[in-house]
Amino acid sequence: MRKKELKQLKLAVPKQETPITNFLTASGTFQDGDLLLNRQGLRFISHDKENSPSYTHPEDTQFNLADLETMKVIGKGSGGVVQLVRHKWTNKLFALKVIQMNIQEPVRKQIVQELKINQASQCQNIVVCYDAFYNNGFISLVLEYMDCGSLADVLKQLKTILEPYLAVVCKQVLKGLVYLHHERHIIHRDIKPSNLLVNHKGEVKITDFGVSAMLANSMGQRDTFVGTYNYMSPERISGSAYGYSSDIWSLGLVILELAIGRFPYLPLEKEEGWLNFYELLETIVGQPPPCAPPDQFSPEFCSFVSACIQKDPKDRMSSLDLLSHPFIKKFEDRDIDLAILIRSLDPPM
Ligand code: ATP
Ligand code: MG
Repeated sequence: MRKKELKQLKLAVPKQETPITNFLTASGTFQDGDLLLNRQGLRFISHDKENSPSYTHPEDTQFNLADLETMKVIGKGSGGVVQLVRHKWTNKLFALKVIQMNIQEPVRKQIVQELKINQASQCQNIVVCYDAFYNNGFISLVLEYMDCGSLADVLKQLKTILEPYLAVVCKQVLKGLVYLHHERHIIHRDIKPSNLLVNHKGEVKITDFGVSAMLANSMGQRDTFVGTYNYMSPERISGSAYGYSSDIWSLGLVILELAIGRFPYLPLEKEEGWLNFYELLETIVGQPPPCAPPDQFSPEFCSFVSACIQKDPKDRMSSLDLLSHPFIKKFEDRDIDLAILIRSLDPPM
């Protein structure tokens, strides 16, 4: 039985195509400062007086890949596959994300930083990464399982999301962003509907601090970036310096998309397909920014969207200030139950 389960799990891990070994120690361990990543998982190392390493795990949770039984594939991204897995001994469900690792030094540094942040996350609106394993050129992340999929899945079914629910969604995403920007001093870099996950409790959580993108690509190099550019701010897509406010631009576009039911830059006549990169770049940088149509949405909503989607990053509000924007405040006392709405939908694949 155990043999069978192990075999099953092996099948679920993609085959290594390019051996990636030059940053590993002879024992197959990847070490950077006080962080150690190998088949046994991610550990923070503290050195005693004799300088022999002892391993401490931030959560006291010991995972072993062999103890995770694959239930089904729940998603595929450009960087890898996400599976629903069950922990054999506790019966708990997790999402296991398996990504091919890029070896370039800046990418590696970034990954390490992000895994650290994710493990230490104390925020209700950030998807927890319980453990990470390095195996044969692939990194497996054991993530909190969000059983209702992403906002992209939600939008597919609902077509559009009404303002009261949007306010509830937005408040939670903003809390996650406040945590990242103001407490951890991190730019997410990849805010988009598929990176905002929901569960049956109506919780919305941010995932992928660009981890998958950075693992699979060289960071910041446009020609090797395989994710979407759609939500990139003008300064970022044009290769200039960018900061936290770049995430705010993306948030504004996402919220507007959820409200109108289509990507805001998508020309009406183009139902399917998308502008190529240069058309997109030209539109984002050269055209006036999109806004919410005032005849269809409340003044508070329109104001919120344009507080985010400003071409000059200095004109965008911060995540912290947006939390007290009138659009968010407007629905705070109204007992809007996002959980009921989410639970009424078909479960994701
Ligand atoms: P890209 O790779 O281009 O950024 P993506 O965000 O869709 O796109 P992944 O991050 O690999 O790609 O995720 C694929 C899908 O798996 C997501 O769209 C989501 O539906 C699902 N998913 C990811 N993480 C979880 C999770 N922790 N719990 C539940 N479902 C998840
Ligand atoms: Mg993702």
